[in-house]
Amino acid sequence: MSQEIEKIVYCPAGHSSNDFIYSDAQNFIYSENCSLCTEERFIREFKTWSSGNANIDKNIQESQTTNIYYKLQWIPYDNFQNIKFIADGGRGSVHSAELKNGIKWRWNFIKQDWENHFISSEIALKEIKDSRYDIAEFLKMIKTVNNYEYIANYYGISKNPFTQNFIFVVELFNDDLHKFLTKTFWDLGWEPKIDMLISISGGLEILHAKNLVHCNLHSGNILNLTTPGPISDIYLDLCTLGNDLVLNTNNKNDKIFGLIPYIPPEVLRGNEFTRKGDIYSFGGIMYEIVTAQRPFADQAHDTYLIIDICNGVRPKVPNFMLNWIPEWYLDLMYRCWSDDPSKRPTAAELGDLFCDVLETFYRNIEDNVKRQLKIADENQKNTSKSQKQELLELFSHSSKLHPQSSSISRYIHTLHGLHNLLEDIKSGKSSDPNLLSI
Ligand SMILES: [Zn+2]
Repeated sequence: MSQEIEKIVYCPAGHSSNDFIYSDAQNFIYSENCSLCTEERFIREFKTWSSGNANIDKNIQESQTTNIYYKLQWIPYDNFQNIKFIADGGRGSVHSAELKNGIKWRWNFIKQDWENHFISSEIALKEIKDSRYDIAEFLKMIKTVNNYEYIANYYGISKNPFTQNFIFVVELFNDDLHKFLTKTFWDLGWEPKIDMLISISGGLEILHAKNLVHCNLHSGNILNLTTPGPISDIYLDLCTLGNDLVLNTNNKNDKIFGLIPYIPPEVLRGNEFTRKGDIYSFGGIMYEIVTAQRPFADQAHDTYLIIDICNGVRPKVPNFMLNWIPEWYLDLMYRCWSDDPSKRPTAAELGDLFCDVLETFYRNIEDNVKRQLKIADENQKNTSKSQKQELLELFSHSSKLHPQSSSISRYIHTLHGLHNLLEDIKSGKSSDPNLLSI
């Protein structure tokens, strides 16, 4: 057998294709680019920009010298054009914009200039108005997972010169999962549903393997591309380092950030958010994928709901939908919602299970899982037109949506934080700080 010997290549600066850029990555010299030249150029330009915050600068710089593909960048605000408002979120607002000049991608050693990527591409601008949000700390977390499949990419940081708020420059998607489901629910068979669940559990598996916890997984933080098929990526907006759950610790949280229906009972009681907490939130995603409704959307998101969840109350699948959902799916969803975190599956288990199910679609064998999914699809398809219309109204109808339910993340008082107030809230002596005012 002949073995092809790879020729060593040199760039004009003297770097060799045998050099290592990091301990685990060899230098890549191709055409007019060299990874080491690109990295050296990024380092030379450190002194030409600043975000105005030394910690943020440090994290951007570190990503430019530790990540071979996706380097976070400082992106000047005047690089954005056609800025359009999309939505308000829990920590600020989201706009879409075009990257006029793109972002620096590779240094061309012949032209002695940058080759830019994403020129005129549309991106999302997430402006952070919440002063409690530690942007530098967040950057430290995400730079380790920034080039992974199933996780939305961050391109860099900018600053709004009018408000002085920092802006995350992120990949732009068509819809979040909730909007996607309300648009496509009737035509969505089990195959694309399982596809989406594989992507979302895959994203969690990556985070958890890196010892990160998402902490705010809900349908608004799952971003969907609709062409050619549904692709789901997880959007990160919190993230902490993962710890195992320590109960009975004195170190409890008075407040947490998120949406009550997706927050696990142990966290609502004041304990730390762990990887198993993300799995509880995933149960909410599973619920939404089969019902197109957010969990507990028909109830006020208040302290009473928190107490109910801590007492084991879980969202109910409407009876008429039960024959659209295989039993194993419901069992798995309720396992994710176990009050005891140790009984919840891991992200890797979820991923393996959904991959096995997807495989049945490609196999020519009629097994039980495939049969159940086929029957479920048929049952959903055979819903009468008038019932469909009724249900469509139910999905979008505001009378079904409780005015004091929330789809935007916010700060919530935990039961630990409310400890002294609980009796007064119950007796009506004190108003509920968790209740949205209308
Ligand atoms: Zn070079």
